[in-house]
Amino acid sequence: MLPYSIATEYMSCDLCGSNDQILMYSKIDPITGREYHVVECSCGMAFVNPMPTEASIPALYPEDYLKDKNDLSSLYGRMLELLPQCKGGKLLDIGCGRGDFIRHASKHGWDAEGVDLLAWDTPHNAPIRVGDFTTMDFPGAGYDAITAWALLEHVRKPSAFFERVSRLLKDDGVFVFVVSNFGAPGMRHSCTEDIPRHLQLFTPKAIKSYLNKYGMISRAIFHSDKIYSCYPFGLLRYGFQSLRKKERHCSSYENRSVALLRNRQIRGNALAWLVDVFRSIGPVDIFLDAVDLCLGVALANLSKIMKNYGVVTVVAISNRQKKSNPRKEDC
Ligand SMILES: [Zn+2]
Repeated sequence: MLPYSIATEYMSCDLCGSNDQILMYSKIDPITGREYHVVECSCGMAFVNPMPTEASIPALYPEDYLKDKNDLSSLYGRMLELLPQCKGGKLLDIGCGRGDFIRHASKHGWDAEGVDLLAWDTPHNAPIRVGDFTTMDFPGAGYDAITAWALLEHVRKPSAFFERVSRLLKDDGVFVFVVSNFGAPGMRHSCTEDIPRHLQLFTPKAIKSYLNKYGMISRAIFHSDKIYSCYPFGLLRYGFQSLRKKERHCSSYENRSVALLRNRQIRGNALAWLVDVFRSIGPVDIFLDAVDLCLGVALANLSKIMKNYGVVTVVAISNRQKKSNPRKEDC
């Protein structure tokens, strides 16, 4: 049943170094079959602890992990809109996966390259380096833009990434990244995070602390689903557990209706999906799933209005840019 060998180790908080943590929830990972615990530090960062070791990280990702992440040209277009508009320049995409975004950026005038810890099957002839971004050499590098699309929650030590990005960024460069927001209503109280692929869970306050610590500031933090959407499903059952004062355990609840909805094989055929749902899930569970679904969607939309959405897009610049020209525009 357990095809992977994964070692774990206890970690201090990557942001503040503290060992003062409280248990938020536990979750059994369906991929590795192991239970993991999410803890919250007094500084606001949350993370998986004990955490998979560096050597164990590749075992967390099945070979088909990126299988659905193709043909996203409209998404890449929206990502490009976050970069300086006037011209291309040198771009580095960290955690580039198959290199789809690099290819898209190259077509639009950017001298783009990528780096990823793992080697994925790629259909492109894209310049991708495989290895640890925090330790590999970038001789003579100075990037106009560095991007990290849904990467930083996957790394064991975000501090090493922020530090490296700060060094590689030109004085007038931008660092654009998307990351899940553990401070959003519902995210702390649902089973949404992909544990343990998501190892570090940020809040906007923690993001700003990281940036400040490594010589950068946020120019903008967007709370929208323009790049990725995020719905806090699981709140209903999670709330029942809390009311009954049971230990909060995400794995005891799965919105099976939503799981079926996400099944790509029947996507687009509503009747087939409905038949499948009624055949495999009882009416009571369907009702609870439906209520849970409505709660998740309502809270996600409310959190956008409250500017505390479950996924945030951050545009950051170097402190050096602020000091040299505080009114400097993109072009
Ligand atoms: Zn901390």
